[in-house]
Amino acid sequence: MTESLQNRHAWLQRLWVPFGAILLTLLLAQTDLHQSLDRWLRDHQQALTARTHYFQDSLVLDINDASLKRLEPHFGTWPYSRDLYAQLVDYLAAQGARGVVFDILFAETRPQDDQFRQAIQRHPIVTLVAGEPAKSLPLSMEERVRLQQLQWSAPTANANSTELPGKPLQGIVLPRSEITGTDNAQLRLGIISATSDADGVLRRLPLLYRIDSILLPALPLRTLVDVLKPELNYLPHQLQVAGYRFPVDAKGQLKLYYPKNANAILTLPFYEVVEAATGITPVADAGDFLRGKTVFIGSTAYLSDQVNTPRGPMAGTYLLATAHETLSQGLFILPDHWTWNTLLLALALVPVLVYSLRPRAGFGPAGLLLLGTAGMLYLINLALLRSQGQGSDLLVPLELLLFGGLMIAAHYQWVVKRHNRQLAQQNLELDRVANTDALTGLNNRRAFLAQYQQEMERVRRHGAELPTLAIMDLDKFKSVNDTYGHDIGDIVLKLFAEVLQTAVRSIDSPGRWGGEEFVVLLPRTGIDDALIVLERVRMGISQHKIPAPADQLTVTVSIGVTPVAHAQESADEAIKRADAGLYQAKESGRNQIVAVPLVADETHSLAHPTT
Ligand code: GH3
Ligand code: MG
Ligand code: MG
Repeated sequence: MTESLQNRHAWLQRLWVPFGAILLTLLLAQTDLHQSLDRWLRDHQQALTARTHYFQDSLVLDINDASLKRLEPHFGTWPYSRDLYAQLVDYLAAQGARGVVFDILFAETRPQDDQFRQAIQRHPIVTLVAGEPAKSLPLSMEERVRLQQLQWSAPTANANSTELPGKPLQGIVLPRSEITGTDNAQLRLGIISATSDADGVLRRLPLLYRIDSILLPALPLRTLVDVLKPELNYLPHQLQVAGYRFPVDAKGQLKLYYPKNANAILTLPFYEVVEAATGITPVADAGDFLRGKTVFIGSTAYLSDQVNTPRGPMAGTYLLATAHETLSQGLFILPDHWTWNTLLLALALVPVLVYSLRPRAGFGPAGLLLLGTAGMLYLINLALLRSQGQGSDLLVPLELLLFGGLMIAAHYQWVVKRHNRQLAQQNLELDRVANTDALTGLNNRRAFLAQYQQEMERVRRHGAELPTLAIMDLDKFKSVNDTYGHDIGDIVLKLFAEVLQTAVRSIDSPGRWGGEEFVVLLPRTGIDDALIVLERVRMGISQHKIPAPADQLTVTVSIGVTPVAHAQESADEAIKRADAGLYQAKESGRNQIVAVPLVADETHSLAHPTT
């Protein structure tokens, strides 16, 4: 592995690991899948780090089915005549409630509206709600006048302040003027309009709404601030309202940090307090229970708007009370900060870069490093959220790690493959070197013997015809060396190898036996055919004029040839017999072929005159 990675451009090849990972991460970040995963992960982190709260300053009066049933004998069926609310407001004010919030849209007139109006005017602790109509509606003149009385105004001369971000409303449903009166300058009114994310879950709360450039507060903000027209100031990512500072996003929305427990807000059935307020129950004094509390009155029976939150579905009124409390306690999640996001992303890049720079450690340690980093990022993200309410982007760094891991695995696979390819090539080359005679390029003795074995194996398995074997020795080669020098001797050896190679057939296996001795195996060949081939060799070399420094030289060869005796005969035995023929050829004057038949004394010679 090591040497294959040390080639010149290895580091360049490895660069595609981090770049590929970054590119894939960027691509994934554009998808809806990424958005859903991001929401899921953030909700999950939030749930893990959320704290249990028991808010003491708010109370929900739930107009539930039990309340409707209990109150029916006294007040008839829903909707109630409005003197009931007048009595309730009087009672709650007398008990020292800080605020009374009606999460009921008083868009219709009912009997005794004037009593309710008078109670509201008596007790400036009442907050009413306005909502958004289902369809976009233009403002009537009367509505415009009332809204201008209700509006929270932006500061006029503050250089630091940019335009206040408010969620645009497409119309408004105001409480009837029978209830509010026509002069709304003293009225407390808050907007309710669910602003869920794409998955229908409400995570963010707009603090301000805007309709025809009139700025109105969201209900939880209205209930929080005592001042009728508080001073507003907006710095990038911070909305300042009457001493509160809210870290809002670019759209002026605040991300709520929901409590862990579902019972963070005290809740009572509506009838209990109504019975006390109207004297149905004899003991009407709640002691200090209601003192200082903001009382949210809303229905989970009729018109009940269930809102999906990251902590599960919540009744609308309960959500309003929760939002009021989280605003007052500063329980929100700070919008992502680029320094933290960059730090987490940089951390995720570390193992990917480490692998790219030092990939020799292999995939196992790289995988461990990736997993370790993922765990660390996860914990940092949790710690930031828990300790500072700081939100941060965990998904993108995790995706980077994931794609980093995939790229590393792919790169590692590629390296291993390339390495194996190189090994195979090296093995092939080694094989070639081990089997080839360096001077002539013919098979060496080792390779020749292997071919002999292979051919005999074939003969044994398929009962093929036996081969014939010949051994050749250059004549008086010592004198070539002596006369012309060793270099010329080498040239002659090479030349003979060429002659031999061209003279034999493609099925024949020539080889260098050693020194100036050569062999050839002629498969499926009888002695007669072998003699034809060998004669071509003998003739071929003898006719060659070999250029030498002073003159030309010729060489001849003597050959001994014999058929292989049987399927079990070893190369040694056959060579020995052929060698006997060679010896005889030398004895008989060289430059000739002597065939040694299997019956020893039938040796015969094809003598040729020496030149
Ligand atoms: P004979 O006809 O009886 O075979 O005579 P010869 O001279 O060929 O026989 P001998 O065995 O006495 O000599 C063989 C010579 O071949 C000796 C050796 O120096 C030479 N020889 C062996 N291998 C090589 C080689 O690779 N290159 C060169 N140039 N000469 C070699
Ligand atoms: Mg010899
Ligand atoms: Mg010789």
